[in-house]
Amino acid sequence: MCGIVGFTGAQAAAPLLLEGLKRLEYRGYDSAGIAVMGGGIRVEKVSGKVEKLCEKTGDGALVPGSTGIGHTRWATHGAPTDLNAHPHLSNDGRFAVVHNGIIENYAALREELTAKGYSFISETDTEVIVHLLEMYDSGDLKATVMKTVARLEGSYALGVLCADAPDTLFAVREASPLILGVGVGENYFASDVTALVSYTKNAIYLDDGEFAELTPKGITIYDCSGKRLDKPITRITWDVEAAEKGGYEHFMLKEIMEQPAAVRAAIAPRLKDGEVKLEEFDLSEEELRQFRKIVITACGSAYYAGCAAKYALEALTRIPVEAVLASELRYGDPLIDEHTLLIVISQSGETADTIAAMKECRSRGAKALAIVNVVGSTIAKTADWTLYTWAGPEIAVATTKGYTTQLAVLFLLAMSMGRKLGALTEERYPALLYDILRLPKLIQEAIDLNHGIPALAKKYHDSPSLFFIGRNTDWASALEGALKMKEISYIHAESYAAGELKHGTIALIEEGTPVIAVCCNEALEDKTVSNIVEVKARGARVLAVAFRGDRKIVSQANDVIFIPRINTLFTPVLAVIPMQLLAYCVARENGCDIDKPKNLAKSVTVE
Ligand code: GLU
Repeated sequence: MCGIVGFTGAQAAAPLLLEGLKRLEYRGYDSAGIAVMGGGIRVEKVSGKVEKLCEKTGDGALVPGSTGIGHTRWATHGAPTDLNAHPHLSNDGRFAVVHNGIIENYAALREELTAKGYSFISETDTEVIVHLLEMYDSGDLKATVMKTVARLEGSYALGVLCADAPDTLFAVREASPLILGVGVGENYFASDVTALVSYTKNAIYLDDGEFAELTPKGITIYDCSGKRLDKPITRITWDVEAAEKGGYEHFMLKEIMEQPAAVRAAIAPRLKDGEVKLEEFDLSEEELRQFRKIVITACGSAYYAGCAAKYALEALTRIPVEAVLASELRYGDPLIDEHTLLIVISQSGETADTIAAMKECRSRGAKALAIVNVVGSTIAKTADWTLYTWAGPEIAVATTKGYTTQLAVLFLLAMSMGRKLGALTEERYPALLYDILRLPKLIQEAIDLNHGIPALAKKYHDSPSLFFIGRNTDWASALEGALKMKEISYIHAESYAAGELKHGTIALIEEGTPVIAVCCNEALEDKTVSNIVEVKARGARVLAVAFRGDRKIVSQANDVIFIPRINTLFTPVLAVIPMQLLAYCVARENGCDIDKPKNLAKSVTVE
């Protein structure tokens, strides 16, 4: 999720590792650490930023040695503390590991290793790796690494250092980025080219399931069975700034493109043996039955995620659900008691209004379940239970993967609660599970289907005002679509429940007014189509968001953007994708500062 680096050569490793970590810091900065070989492995790590580690180590001068690994952390398992910082060391001190990603089966491995006498000093999922290396150590480092990796499930980019092979590094990749840097008499690895570009422009891109052995003299690459591979060297043409954004023009676009992987990270660890299992919120049927209502509270896009998930939660649990803005809830006199399940949603976990609303509701007896991205944040620490979204760091102010991962987690929650309560029947469960499993793939399809959006943006970018309409789940999607447009393109955009237009707002529709109509709710499609006809009769230009192959919409709207078909309850997670892209392209067309829109901050820590 954040950054790893490795270096082996003749120069001092620590200053190079620290420099590389600084370049990766935009990806996450919960802690920083290095392990350098110098008469045994020496580890230096601190919670907080790389700068602190530089101060502690005299910019690396106090940690001699010419082979080492480094890490900046975006915590997923365990708070951002010194102890949880990477690298992690084996009990015998002979192995050090840095890791990006999530080891999904860490709990079972931890139990097994503890029973065998290995002692754990951190709360991380990562630490199991270093003890496995010690357990499988046969004197043949390659074989030891292979045996260890064979036990791991999940996503991981790993850097491994072993005291018995002082100038050797191992780098392993599975569903987490890792790139090798080819130098002269020295070699590197890093999770991002950003960390490499100042040292070498020659890179080898590892694919999932591959691993590499690096020494100053050369790099050997293997597939997962240990067979040697020949991989081409790619010339990096990016400068440092472009490299940080993975070659994308803006972080927002990069984060839109990261959504399939981010949603996968949110979902995969929670699907076990063909079922949704939320270990962090593992309440019995009896405990769940205590809740007579669910109140969702949040601000901005997180609130809209709540509005969208309300439908799935109500349909699958049959408990009444209310979504309330945190800034309203905190100053109201809410009818909340010990029979209320409060769901608190915040990307940063530091949103001031949301923290205050949670405090108010808990003082009235409600139990709080937090859905948060940042591990160890205030909301995560104070809630009764926390489900992390594991979206990785989100840099652009306008949220994209933060929002879709919140939805994914809320859908899992609805399914898990519904199943336990018996409201979600055995007959209905497999079809929903199938859609959840396919979500990352469907999000990718929704992205791929929308290559025509830059051209549409040219058509719509100079409108002074846009309307977003939809019914039910589509209305919830329209709310987030309109917010994205307002946030980054500064165009006035209003979202309306489609049926409400004729109760007043339709007077604002004039010749040429763009109306974005979300039509992904099949049961209500005819109704929304009637609204499309109504606005067109008053001169509106209609851009519809619809399921691929929907002919009815094609014949009614001026333009259509498609998403793949999915169960209606889950459509918001797909319908938002073309609207994110549209907002992005319109803002780009209008020359707006997309990643840092005016007057906004990423995390709103004031009321
Ligand atoms: N899951 C690991 C941890 O929480 C690694 C997180 C990362 O990618 O930085 O320590």
